[in-house]
Amino acid sequence: MPSGRVHNLINIAAYSVLAAGALILSRQDLLTITPAQALNFTLAFAAGTFLLSPDLDLAEGRVDSKRHWGILGVLWVPYGRMFRHRGLSHTWVLGPLTRLAYLAVLITLIVGLLRTAVPTLTLPDIPQPISLKFAVPIMLGYYLSQWLHLIADGVRPDHGLRHTARKLRRMPGRRRPRARSRSH
Ligand SMILES: [Zn+2]
Repeated sequence: MPSGRVHNLINIAAYSVLAAGALILSRQDLLTITPAQALNFTLAFAAGTFLLSPDLDLAEGRVDSKRHWGILGVLWVPYGRMFRHRGLSHTWVLGPLTRLAYLAVLITLIVGLLRTAVPTLTLPDIPQPISLKFAVPIMLGYYLSQWLHLIADGVRPDHGLRHTARKLRRMPGRRRPRARSRSH
């Protein structure tokens, strides 16, 4: 399994190839990307690569993506405790969502605490409703960064299904007796 540094290098290389391709295609009018869409994609890709990597499931220990959060890295320790390494966190569809959901909970808690501590504080509101044109490049950038990590880890897209199937097989009542060797 590649180290955090290797994962970062793979993602940076893939991003460079993709950016060059997008630039060539848009020069030839084969693709239209607005500067805002390119920026959203890039920021989401970078966040997915450096801050929200699937390896945060190791955040109870030392891991690259936790280090990038600085002192805030400690906030990811519960995530590392909750998720087994290369389990649900390393699935293609739900895995990336677990980190977004965890981040949403963290932000809600922090904003709640700030509002209680400083009632006069005004925080910027998220413009509603969020348009698809705004959200799609963000999700694309984020998911692509995650999938590159999973490909580099050798995790297949059906990892989640196999994981669930294995769990179901292990359910009580369906357990096969395990051979035990006792030595006295
Ligand atoms: Zn990994």
